Amino acid sequence: MTYDRSIQAFEAASRVIPGGVDSPVRAFGSVGGTPPFMERGEGAYLFDVDGNRYVDYVQSWGPLIFGHADSDIEKAVIETAKKGLSFGAPTELETALAEEIVSMFEGIDKLRFVSSGTEAVMSAIRLARGATGRDNIIKFKGCYHGHSDALLVQAGSGAVTFGAPSSPGVPADLTKHTLLATYNDIESVTACFRDSEEIACVIIEPVAGNMGLVPAEEEFLTALRKLCDMHGTLLIFDEVMSGFRASLKGAQGLTAVKPDMVTFGKVIGGGMPVGAFAASAAIMSQLSPEGPVYQAGTLSGNPVAMAAGLASLRKLKANPSLYIGLAEKAKKLMRGFQAAADAEEIPLVTEVRGSMFGFFFSERAVKNFEEAQGNDEKAFALFHREMLSRGIYLACSAYETGFISAAMTEEMIDETITAAYASMRVVADS
Ligand SMILES: *Cc1c(COP(=O)(O)O)cnc(C)c1O
Repeated sequence: MTYDRSIQAFEAASRVIPGGVDSPVRAFGSVGGTPPFMERGEGAYLFDVDGNRYVDYVQSWGPLIFGHADSDIEKAVIETAKKGLSFGAPTELETALAEEIVSMFEGIDKLRFVSSGTEAVMSAIRLARGATGRDNIIKFKGCYHGHSDALLVQAGSGAVTFGAPSSPGVPADLTKHTLLATYNDIESVTACFRDSEEIACVIIEPVAGNMGLVPAEEEFLTALRKLCDMHGTLLIFDEVMSGFRASLKGAQGLTAVKPDMVTFGKVIGGGMPVGAFAASAAIMSQLSPEGPVYQAGTLSGNPVAMAAGLASLRKLKANPSLYIGLAEKAKKLMRGFQAAADAEEIPLVTEVRGSMFGFFFSERAVKNFEEAQGNDEKAFALFHREMLSRGIYLACSAYETGFISAAMTEEMIDETITAAYASMRVVADS
């Protein structure tokens, strides 16, 4: 494979866009090399500007559950676009998509659309604070909830549960209300509640996909629910990634625990920029114009984006057994990676939830962010590069999740496993 045009494109981009990309992970920083610039996608395949073809396990970081340029979604988008791109006035498409989502989840009566997952979470947290009249929130290390100020938090010094900004530009005053707990560790949450009585909400990825794929244990979620109830704290499931991915009902299809609020994104937009936050009618009634909590958006509920989401969700609902096939392919892929690693005596652990898969170059199963960080990043980077050179496009960081799309065939999975054997051999020889 040659990457000449991508190298040129990256240089040109870097002159006018910081790092040449509009979202940092895309720059391939943690695996090295030049990111291929993409020209088009077709089903499970991506084609870069040099004409290289890849089997795409990134799927735009989750949204494309039907693969690239799905004909039904494409048709819905084109037909809607012909009627105008945006009105800044209500459309029936918003109601239709809201109904599709709300009808799937217990405890959720209403939702509001925004244009990204970041916005969905930021708005949900404002609403949780407004509804409870409290300022403090708890999040978990390694969970990602978008790039809003209060959520760009890392562990502070020593044993304190209050976080410190993880990025320059975020005033400590804006993160001092964010407490940090450890994923799958209920003691760490209890410690947060000890340090602060006044906690508005706990936000969690019930199937974490942003520290690699690390699912929450059922006992942990149950205990978390109990703690929230004891303290009058709202439990928010951030299902921006896991929604319509971990199962048709997202992570909530896999746990008996019910959240008070849910955030969505990615799949609900079918590849267009859409986010949403949802809760009971009582909580949502606190939102402007019904209630006092302000939230707004010029392009929120954009008709073209709604049409893409609606086509996607209707297709999913019409075919609920789809997830069985997606999960089987994900399991087959991870069994293949495991066997390829075992053959070279390379430590590897794998995880699957529905159409989501993850693997760590690690001796032990990973339950939280600290354990995730114990992975062999060098081995991952080399494996990634080798797979790419064999036409397999994996997420370019050890802390991301992979996705199976409905466009993927058994043959593609087999081809990927063959590439994994060859790539593991190179990792073993390094
Ligand atoms: C992707 C993601 C976000 C942020 O969504 P954007 O659309 O990138 O702003 C928030 N939460 C989770 C769990 C995500 O995976």
